[in-house]
Amino acid sequence: MNARNILNADLHCHSVVSDGTLTPEELAERARRGGVELWALTDHDEIGGQQRAAAAARAHGMGYLTGTEISVTFAGETVHIVGLGFDDGDERLRKGLQSTRGGRAQRALEMAQGLAQVGIAGAYAGALEFVGNPDLISRTHFARFLVDTGICKDTSEVFRKYLTDGKPGFVPHRWATLKEAVQWISQAGGVAVIAHPARYKFTPNEEFALFTEFKLHGGQAVEVITGSHSAQESLKYADMAREFDLAASRGSDFHSPDESHTDLGILPYLPGELTPVWELLEARIR
Ligand code: AMP
Ligand code: MN
Ligand code: MN
Ligand code: MN
Repeated sequence: MNARNILNADLHCHSVVSDGTLTPEELAERARRGGVELWALTDHDEIGGQQRAAAAARAHGMGYLTGTEISVTFAGETVHIVGLGFDDGDERLRKGLQSTRGGRAQRALEMAQGLAQVGIAGAYAGALEFVGNPDLISRTHFARFLVDTGICKDTSEVFRKYLTDGKPGFVPHRWATLKEAVQWISQAGGVAVIAHPARYKFTPNEEFALFTEFKLHGGQAVEVITGSHSAQESLKYADMAREFDLAASRGSDFHSPDESHTDLGILPYLPGELTPVWELLEARIR
């Protein structure tokens, strides 16, 4: 194990500013309790929680990197690109995120119509009850409503039965392009990271295209250690990081004490040999 990789960094999680259930301050406290030394809050398509998260990290003596997780449409699938260490006052990034959030309200209304057709009434108002940021209504908020009403026993069941491709509450959506997301992050001084690569349903050719185009646009890192990878998947993406000369990131993707099985700070360290993403971002750590 390479000493530079032995850092308890957790560079992926969500607050009430997107689809998490804790505030930035509550997350910072939980991260510190989990032993996190370097933290980033990465709300979906939003950077509204960054100042609070940075202040809370400072109060707990943790290093902080600004963060977000941008939804992208690539080869007909939704891909998530994490951005780390950008300037959160950057206008192009702010405008870009605002534009990509824009379609969510209309999409949510259509999702509710789909659910109404299978007998689930009032899902839009119901989901809104769980929303912390009116600009960011997501499938997760619908999932919490369907669990709350007793229609499903947990959010995984809701996604399986109602909210994934082909199911009644699923509405296809066009998010940002890969190029836009990588450029918004890079031009703001940050590093773009492919989030949880094992979660996409790509053929080997499509995956190769994702990694190739991501590099071409200026992407520099990939999540190797994440709450949504098995040990085997982590090994595969450690190999991919080497093959594509990408730095490696580590993050729990924590959303909620009730829903997430991977808590902040508990993942294995990054494998040696790989370049940790924080090495590219030393000057951006607050
Ligand atoms: P959206 O951005 O509105 O499409 O919502 C995507 C979010 O839904 C993800 O960030 C996850 O938090 C959550 N999600 C996606 N798939 C699942 C699943 N199978 N089980 C639980 N949560 C999921
Ligand atoms: Mn989420
Ligand atoms: Mn994600
Ligand atoms: Mn996430």
